[in-house]
Amino acid sequence: MLGAVSGELMHGGLIPFSRRRAMQVLAGQLAATPVLLTGPGSAHAAESPAPFPFVYNQTLLEAFIARRGGAIGTAGRAAVAFRCDHHLNRFKAELLPLHRKYAIPVTIAAMSQMTAVEKGPGGSELMPFPLLQKSALENGFEIANHSATHRDAASDLRLTEEIVESHWSLARSLPKLPIELFVPPGVGGTNYRGFDGGASWSSFQKHLAGRLITQQHALSTGYMPGYWSMTGQPLLNMGRSHIRIDDAAVAWRGKDFVKAARRQHKGVCFMYHPSALDAAGLAAVENLFAWCAAERDAGRLDILTVGGLMLARIDSPSRHDLLGGDEGFRNGWNGWNGSSAKWSLRAEQGGYYARRGAASTALSKDCPLGAYAGSTRQLRMSVRSGTGVRLKLEVFDVESPARFSTARTFTVRGSAAFSPLHQYVTLPMTGTQAVRVRLTPVSGGELLVQAPQLLAA
Ligand SMILES: [Zn+2]
Repeated sequence: MLGAVSGELMHGGLIPFSRRRAMQVLAGQLAATPVLLTGPGSAHAAESPAPFPFVYNQTLLEAFIARRGGAIGTAGRAAVAFRCDHHLNRFKAELLPLHRKYAIPVTIAAMSQMTAVEKGPGGSELMPFPLLQKSALENGFEIANHSATHRDAASDLRLTEEIVESHWSLARSLPKLPIELFVPPGVGGTNYRGFDGGASWSSFQKHLAGRLITQQHALSTGYMPGYWSMTGQPLLNMGRSHIRIDDAAVAWRGKDFVKAARRQHKGVCFMYHPSALDAAGLAAVENLFAWCAAERDAGRLDILTVGGLMLARIDSPSRHDLLGGDEGFRNGWNGWNGSSAKWSLRAEQGGYYARRGAASTALSKDCPLGAYAGSTRQLRMSVRSGTGVRLKLEVFDVESPARFSTARTFTVRGSAAFSPLHQYVTLPMTGTQAVRVRLTPVSGGELLVQAPQLLAA
């Protein structure tokens, strides 16, 4: 690796960068031709020699990738992500129940001074940071830095306040969540002195705002239109934009965007402002959620966070599973407490299952978090019950459930077919060493369970 130096560029921002990369950057700007990219089959982005016209923060990017266990393979499925831009009072009242109903994660673009600068119906004060953090852990939300105040900044000091200090402040306010993404706010005025929301890759190098963003965050969204790359190289999604579904007419067409992206082997990021959604808009968003959830159940779509979508890879089946489920119950209990909880192992039709008996108690497995702490996860399992059954699915801190605990109860209808269950959680970045995943049948009879997975999302 080349030695890093500090260089003073253009507007006076101090940015560490390698000499060679700086020359590539300058050459890219001078040539004004499309930059070269490595192909989808190459190693992950942190090792890529691609001459991106911006200097990314390699340490933050590597931690971002490691937390999710590498690229998120979707085995040929397209992927979507949903982003909510602040106005959390209405999010809490109207959107959070929908995200929970359909088990759909969301990335929330939050300002560090959000509760002070937004008040009333369009405000955020009913969702103070401790509650936001709790809700994020329990429901699988990701939080992105969306500046301090959502106002324009035209001086070095003001840009630092809005981009760097807001990051510090969010990290202090939400200590259990990694703040890895920047989501540029629409600020008007000078548009961060010409940065203009990250409308091109080179804007992340050419403008001080862009350099502060890349210095302080693993990745950023922006305003470059188009569908998202699903090559497993997150830098290819730097500056990528979203489809705004505030407008009911656009939300109703949501499935068309997903189908178009799918044909191109790409992904889609949808965004809404809770305060901009009227009754018709909410109905349209719910319809899109329901369609996405049904596509997911049918095995045709993955629903990820924005960070997860950045790292998605359509041509790979490999996706990190904290429950180590590659082999499932094929070779035994695989760390699950099946024997002591009096379940039996069963193989049929090429699958391997845990089967509930009359004396069965809760089925559980403990997982140390390690480097995966802070990542959003999809708890995915497949169950079948001839009689119908209700069951409770929990993820909680092994030592102290008071630190972190989330539960969801499912009703499984009597059927001869397996049906998938989904729940999203974000693993606490601090304070929790290991989580327990526990499945408790609360009523009903026979139940077959395929090995649950806790997948990077
Ligand atoms: Zn905003």
